[in-house]
Amino acid sequence: MTYRELFEQGRAALKTAGVEEADLDARLLLESVCHTDRNDLLVHGDRTVEETDRESYLDLIRRRRSHIPLQYLTGVQEFMGLAFSVNENVLIPRQDTEILVEEVLRELHDGMRILDMCTGSGCILISLLHYSNDCRGTGVDISPKALETARRNGEVLLKASDSATWIQSDLFENVSGKYEFIVSNPPYIKSDVIPTLMPEVKDHEPILALCGYEDGLHFYRRIATDCREYLVSGGMLYFEIGSDQAEAVSAILAEAGFREINVVKDYAGLDRVVYGTYIA
Ligand code: GLN
Repeated sequence: MTYRELFEQGRAALKTAGVEEADLDARLLLESVCHTDRNDLLVHGDRTVEETDRESYLDLIRRRRSHIPLQYLTGVQEFMGLAFSVNENVLIPRQDTEILVEEVLRELHDGMRILDMCTGSGCILISLLHYSNDCRGTGVDISPKALETARRNGEVLLKASDSATWIQSDLFENVSGKYEFIVSNPPYIKSDVIPTLMPEVKDHEPILALCGYEDGLHFYRRIATDCREYLVSGGMLYFEIGSDQAEAVSAILAEAGFREINVVKDYAGLDRVVYGTYIA
């Protein structure tokens, strides 16, 4: 069977299963199996695909048809220009979260300390360390399996992988020390919204990384209150938020004694980041 025929078969199979980006996903899965790129379909579509590759591809198509996210099948998601390894133990890094990283990078100076609460794949902390100089960071997560993934990402993506420390902890339980920056993209989806999400998300991404309980604000309250002990005076707290949470999260920060509270929009014009400064 030729490369193009196999692609057509994969594409049709994904389409009938209701996979949204059937064309793109069929191509990307084929490229990941055959170690090819987008040119191959255009230029080498008539080459023959090895039997073992054909089988691996059709197996991936079968799994994608059951709505396992593409990134869990290819094992990678790009974020801030870096290739993060991902698996079912971590949330797939979202482009929206790049806004959070870019906002922190504006204020981050050489040698500062950063804590990333609910680090997941480590994408936020690792990007911040990758694009700064001599900073040190701690990534915290309740899930040991998520931390394993984050640690591996740090080893691959950081020049000095010992600039990141990974701590298993239920929020601040096992945290010590002081930080100039605390950043977090915590679980923030309301419990009753979870069943309405696409199957890729609700059935396959870790529920622990999604659900912010009844009003979606549980983790903002706890982190804003508990983090103060770990911030230097003048230290800053940055949160990613859901687009309808700016007002509520700003109020939580104000209540916890933060000043100069700001909301930043994402490229779609939706509220995406809230940050503030803590004066002890
Ligand atoms: N911090 C990680 C990310 O942004 C995980 C977030 C989470 O688990 N809610 O991808």
